[in-house]
Amino acid sequence: MNPIGIFGGTFDPIHYGHLRSAFELLQALRFSEVRFVPSADPPHRNSTFAPARLRYRMVEVAVTDQPGFVVDDCEFRREGPSYTIDTLIAVREEHPDVSLCLITGMDAYLGLTSWHRWDEILNLAHIIVAHRPGWKLPDTGELGELLAANGTTSVDDLHGSSCGRIYDHAVTQLEIASTEIRALIAAGRDPRFLMPDSVREVIVDSGCYAKRKL
Ligand code: ATP
Repeated sequence: MNPIGIFGGTFDPIHYGHLRSAFELLQALRFSEVRFVPSADPPHRNSTFAPARLRYRMVEVAVTDQPGFVVDDCEFRREGPSYTIDTLIAVREEHPDVSLCLITGMDAYLGLTSWHRWDEILNLAHIIVAHRPGWKLPDTGELGELLAANGTTSVDDLHGSSCGRIYDHAVTQLEIASTEIRALIAAGRDPRFLMPDSVREVIVDSGCYAKRKL
């Protein structure tokens, strides 16, 4: 079985920046699938804007027609903070020998050492760092050392072992962020073309980011 991509996030809301990056990685790294894992209770955030079930719903409608994209509700089946390490343990139990590739944007990767049990992640998965506009992969400090010890530029390495490597991949840079989408909706503007229409419809119907209807 080809590697499984695991893409966690708050997805508040999901947008084309997330989807295009995941699609390019699905193709370039020859993943069998990309699993989107919406965070039920994100440990790095005091609160989210849309309720967890609605964020999950938006991811569900965003991926529904795309072969190779699936949504995973494992973080909704656990109590307490949604730690990535617990998600990786759960997927690893399901697939003991398959290559698992944890997808992070560059900004998320730069915060890696603040993650719960971060130093165990490479025992369970590879880390794929998708470039995001304006960010550069660090070559000094703890993350620099981690990269020097585990970095690879070979997709075959990701297929040939089940975990343990860091792979840096440039994706088409779409300067879209959920924060800005929420702000523009709150200002009464329309987020059309920043996300699939199906996601926009959930936002419009629920009014989750604005009292005012679009
Ligand atoms: P917010 O603006 O609320 O911080 P976000 O747009 O960064 O949200 P998240 O759900 O926090 O979205 O991100 C999930 C993952 O997607 C993270 O690893 C993040 O780095 C990555 N990501 C976010 N936006 C983009 C983008 N435009 N292109 C590529 N990756 C992205």
